[in-house]
Amino acid sequence: MVSTLAFMGYFSMVAAASTPGPNSKPDLANQSTRPPTPRASGVRPALPAFVDWPAFPFEGDLRIKPLQEPVPAEPPRRGDRQEQCAACHTPDSVYLWSNERWRLKSPPAPSGLPVVVILEPRAHLDLGDLSTMHAAELGVLTVRLERAIRSLESVAQVHVNRWGDGTAHLQQWFLARPHGYLQLRGPFMTMWDEILPPVEEHEWKMNLEYIAAWLSDD
Ligand SMILES: [Zn+2]
Repeated sequence: MVSTLAFMGYFSMVAAASTPGPNSKPDLANQSTRPPTPRASGVRPALPAFVDWPAFPFEGDLRIKPLQEPVPAEPPRRGDRQEQCAACHTPDSVYLWSNERWRLKSPPAPSGLPVVVILEPRAHLDLGDLSTMHAAELGVLTVRLERAIRSLESVAQVHVNRWGDGTAHLQQWFLARPHGYLQLRGPFMTMWDEILPPVEEHEWKMNLEYIAAWLSDD
């Protein structure tokens, strides 16, 4: 998982850039009047403006956790040692689709969004380790997957994420926003995925089979 600081910074930056609609963006003109955010000073900073945006999933009394002191050395990520990497020890039968160099999987059970899928290289590589060929294929597959997922009737948009902190083996996430649910627009959708009731198992399986068939159809 990303650190709290990076997480909030990411949300603030991306949500400001991508969350459409009236009253959904912070008033940038007023941001310079905010007091500077203290870092690990023991003083609680004021709540950021995005807590008032329609897409923010929580309401009521909120407060920011104290920021922990930075550690001198980063801990290992899951699978930093390949012999302990879950992806490298998972057979193709667990995946929705695979080819010579790439595999696509889903979480084991449906969640609140109509589609959540994860693209991984077959080799034990992170994003910055990809060869030029791998990088080119990732670009092509990203576009194909976005197109496949967005072509589902129940889907309006597809968000593509890579969180570098979780696993050493590259995982690129594709998360589908359900059609018409404007309140889910923007980066808070990853939170809504765990808040909304799971989609019907039958619909979830149909969607995944559709995407796998799209990728297999060269
Ligand atoms: Zn691996």
